[in-house]
Amino acid sequence: MIGITATIPVEIVFASGHKAIDLNNLFITAPHPEELVVRAERDGFAHNICAWIKGIYAVTLEEGLERIITVTGGDCSNTIALGEVLAARGVEVIPFAFPLDADRQELCIQMDRLRETLGTSWAAIRKTKTRLDGIRAGLSRLDQLTYRENRVSGLENHQFLVSSSDFGGDPETFQRELRSFIRKVEEREPFREEIRLGYLGVPPIFSGFYELIESLGARVVYNEVQRQFGMLDGKADIVDQYLAYTYPYSVEGRLADITKAIHERKLDGLIHYTQTFCYRQIYDILLRKNLPVPILTLEGDRPGPLDSRTGLRIETFIQMLKDRKP
Ligand code: SF4
Repeated sequence: MIGITATIPVEIVFASGHKAIDLNNLFITAPHPEELVVRAERDGFAHNICAWIKGIYAVTLEEGLERIITVTGGDCSNTIALGEVLAARGVEVIPFAFPLDADRQELCIQMDRLRETLGTSWAAIRKTKTRLDGIRAGLSRLDQLTYRENRVSGLENHQFLVSSSDFGGDPETFQRELRSFIRKVEEREPFREEIRLGYLGVPPIFSGFYELIESLGARVVYNEVQRQFGMLDGKADIVDQYLAYTYPYSVEGRLADITKAIHERKLDGLIHYTQTFCYRQIYDILLRKNLPVPILTLEGDRPGPLDSRTGLRIETFIQMLKDRKP
């Protein structure tokens, strides 16, 4: 079992005969994620460090993971120090860096280094990619069922896509569950909500978000970053696939992806989630400047239910979008 701190070319991990497990998912689905944050703080993590970093740290130690891959480029600079702290606690840390300028050759070097460290071959990686491509095609169908046929809720879309960073550690089981879910929802009556929303930014740390939106006559039909984790564009070449992944590179790729979604999915508005103490909050300036629909910016800090103030802001935003509709 190899922990990963963010999405990486997971085909390489599975091809090497290991299981990849996304530490973010492990943290947030733990029975008491807030206790993991407290544990990290007890071990010396300052209050003004993002809760995801603390959660990753604590869950790695609690689960006894001996080896992790840290994404030190294109994700979060906190991960560099986090890796060093975990290495000092005896965890083997393998760094992986997406090149900020999306340089193909540099990405190839990074992927080949990971391949060599994990002891696998390009032939095995290509075979694994073909296997995972079948699951990614299923995720693409799930996404279409969300925004075209309107049979999938925002939460269901989020749950499957966010889990595709590691396929729940077990691609076969993931695929079985996905197939059975798709069969079930194809028979479902379509949702008929008034407002269609897009969700931007890292996955929310609080719970009850999607449920509240749907109780207010709206639905999230585009989960930006989660959809990126799924790599639904069907690239034949693995390097092209990870170059098309918008999250680690400059904001232009994200803006193009979101703009396409606004038109294709007929979005009335966007909710930009930002994490307290995260540098990615700054992107809010560029998203607001460049996107043509209203944006509500939310901030989440620690795991737990959505607070009433944030709930009220969501309610007011949705009402405003309803009032704007002809
Ligand atoms: S939310 Fe921001 S600060 Fe926290 S781990 Fe992710 S990129 Fe880093």
